[in-house]
Amino acid sequence: MRDSPPLWTRHANGIVQLRLPLPFALKQVNAYLLQADDGWTVVDPGLRTQEAEAAWETFMAQAGIEWRDIARIVATHYHPDHYGLAGWLQARTRAEVWLSETAGFYARRLWGGDETFSAELVAAFRAHGLPEPLCAGVLANLESVKRQVLPHPARTRTIRAGDMLSFGGARWEAIGGEGHAPGHLAFYDRERLIMLCGDQVLPDITPNIGWMAGGDPDPLGSYLSSLDRMAACEVVTANPGHREPFARYGTRVAELRDHHARRLVRMAALAAELAARDKGRFAAFAMCEALFGERIGGNPHNLRFAMAETIAHLERMTFEETLVRDRGSDAAAGASRIYYRAAR
Ligand SMILES: [Zn+2]
Repeated sequence: MRDSPPLWTRHANGIVQLRLPLPFALKQVNAYLLQADDGWTVVDPGLRTQEAEAAWETFMAQAGIEWRDIARIVATHYHPDHYGLAGWLQARTRAEVWLSETAGFYARRLWGGDETFSAELVAAFRAHGLPEPLCAGVLANLESVKRQVLPHPARTRTIRAGDMLSFGGARWEAIGGEGHAPGHLAFYDRERLIMLCGDQVLPDITPNIGWMAGGDPDPLGSYLSSLDRMAACEVVTANPGHREPFARYGTRVAELRDHHARRLVRMAALAAELAARDKGRFAAFAMCEALFGERIGGNPHNLRFAMAETIAHLERMTFEETLVRDRGSDAAAGASRIYYRAAR
């Protein structure tokens, strides 16, 4: 049995890693704190839960940092586990929140008070074959996430891919990345060869490829080309959004590429099997179950990510012209559905 890691660690390069709890399988998200003369910069404040708020309070007391010592909050992307506490932390620190324009847009589109995204995503999943009770579960799960993101920060500054940013006593180049989350930014210190990766490159786990209703039509293609940009950076220390900082960055980027290449090969074989069972076609949900197991339906949070990941790969296969997408009717449901079939 392994001891659980400490709440926070000050690494030799001065970067403080704060391990914040998550109430799902991922267990932990990292906030990074970087100190300079003008105060602390927080990169990714975490998900808004009582446990994470308590962890912040404990950390601040243990590290001897005052709320007013925090000069700015930077978000790598808008996902709730990274951005969720931005408004809460801003209320305590009065710090400006830096994020990309696209991240700001999606934070409101997905988690705004009058959002229509949840219904659009569930309608898309339904068209991709997700059975009704599971649609309801995903919708309820999306609703429950909102309180883990609110309030949105009131004062923000827009940062862009390619910007050179000064914080934490260093110069950071914002490196744009797509596929996991639109408008994702990683931050690269070319002098010390440090990367604040966000979720673009993770050790041990593969970043979810997030297909969304009304979003990037080819998120996997976008992710793979973003990896080219990430691979071009020489990195000695990679600080990921989840798990622990690691050194084998270049190798890890190559492994992520291989992972998706292998998954596409496996899916081509599964596609042939599934199509053979059902008039030469199959729905994304059938592929999702074939890939992730039928138990995936039992956890609406994991199911949402599994469906997004599956559709992202199937859509990539349509761009590669190994599959075609078409509409058909599902007699049992009495509704129009989206199917995939082999390209001829
Ligand atoms: Zn994350």
